Amino acid sequence: MSEPLVIVGNGMAALRLVDELAKVALGRYAIAVIGDEPRLAYNRVLLSSVLAGEAASHDIELRPANWWRDRGVTLEYGCVATEIDVGRRELKIANEESMTFSRLVLATGSMPLRLNLPGADLPGVHTFRDTRDVDLLLTLAAQKKRVVVVGGGLLGLEAAYGLAKAGAAVTLIHLMDRLMERQLDAPAAELLKSLVERKGIKILLNANTARLHGETRVEGVELADGRRIDADAVIFAAGIRPNVALAKDAGIPVNRGIVVDDSLQTGAPGIFALGECAEHRGICYGLVEPAYEQARVLAQHLAGSGAGYSGSVVATNLKVSGVNVFSAGDFIGADGTETIVLSDARGGTYKKLVVAEGRLAGAVLVGDAGDALWYLDLIRKRAPVAGIRKDMMFGRSRARASEAA
Ligand SMILES: Cc1cc2nc3c(=O)[nH]c(=O)nc-3n(C[C@H](O)[C@H](O)[C@H](O)COP(=O)(O)OP(=O)(O)OC[C@H]3O[C@@H](n4cnc5c(N)ncnc54)[C@H](O)[C@@H]3O)c2cc1C
Repeated sequence: MSEPLVIVGNGMAALRLVDELAKVALGRYAIAVIGDEPRLAYNRVLLSSVLAGEAASHDIELRPANWWRDRGVTLEYGCVATEIDVGRRELKIANEESMTFSRLVLATGSMPLRLNLPGADLPGVHTFRDTRDVDLLLTLAAQKKRVVVVGGGLLGLEAAYGLAKAGAAVTLIHLMDRLMERQLDAPAAELLKSLVERKGIKILLNANTARLHGETRVEGVELADGRRIDADAVIFAAGIRPNVALAKDAGIPVNRGIVVDDSLQTGAPGIFALGECAEHRGICYGLVEPAYEQARVLAQHLAGSGAGYSGSVVATNLKVSGVNVFSAGDFIGADGTETIVLSDARGGTYKKLVVAEGRLAGAVLVGDAGDALWYLDLIRKRAPVAGIRKDMMFGRSRARASEAA
């Protein structure tokens, strides 16, 4: 008889796990997926494209209902899992039902951070995480509202771009002295800033949000240096926090995320976590590719093979049309590394490659990111680059040609 396996969360990691399990352990588990969003799993990455009017909400659904049915999955959506009884192997659900499991997988993702500031709970203050948020933001933009986006990382920039494109007057404020500081060095960030400003978005750096003003709803943002920006709405895009409450309340060890070992198992035997809610070797990834790698490893583990997960090399692509930005690996250049840089600010191009011990260790591309996947592959494979070193800056075809010559 099939063992009951319950997955909490119906996001990108959960779907990929079901997909991988169907390949390697078909029939071994009776799978149930419990998700609190009121729709089938969708590609959350593409919410930015929906906001920017470059994709429709129904286009981003990852798989139709019959895909789940064909794999024998019991799918409950619009349904919140509220409690895990580790000893009794039971999951409680908000509608008073419960499910027993032999294996449980937590794929609960993250929630957006709301800065703990005076006024942060006023009406008109929003986040950018799910389809409901996107519907709200599109309504604001259609009314040509003045919107302040707090946060100059990938999410903040994509929110600002989508809102501006849809008609809002957008100011983006960022605490740090450069945009996307976790992915870009200073020259790349400077170039990005000028490219984004050309889209009609006002950017304020070194801008520490002190409080939000408003009586019955938000009316403006006050910065620590006293500057005030009038706003009809404020969007927090200043980070995420892994959803760990379910695990924590059940006594499963958590730090920032739910702590997992190399087989993605939590501190409770038979209970696993993956995706944004999981913390592996001290790292909580906020990107989809690590979640997919974890799903592959966990499926193999659940199928009985001894595969282990050792971490992921992460890469970031900004989805702002006409502003190509890519960053992967060691983009700063640690001690003992060499950097190769091509910079043409007026032409809108910046490329930096970091080489360590004869291998590509990191890359930053702004403007021309056509060879991003090739660079990422070199970084992940740790391939020696001595033979292509002098030409790899100019892309794959030039490097290949010189290698062949
Ligand atoms: C606008 C936007 C753009 C992004 N762009 C990129 C990008 O370009 N590249 C990239 O790599 N990543 C990007 N990301 C991040 C990426 O979407 C996430 O890394 C990915 O979705 C994580 O998958 P997950 O399954 O771990 O979490 P999620 O996709 O968040 O899924 C978790 C699900 O669990 C549900 N859930 C939580 N608690 C419970 C509960 N108790 N009971 C039932 N259900 C529950 C949640 O509601 C959610 O539906 C972006 C994210 C956003 C919001």
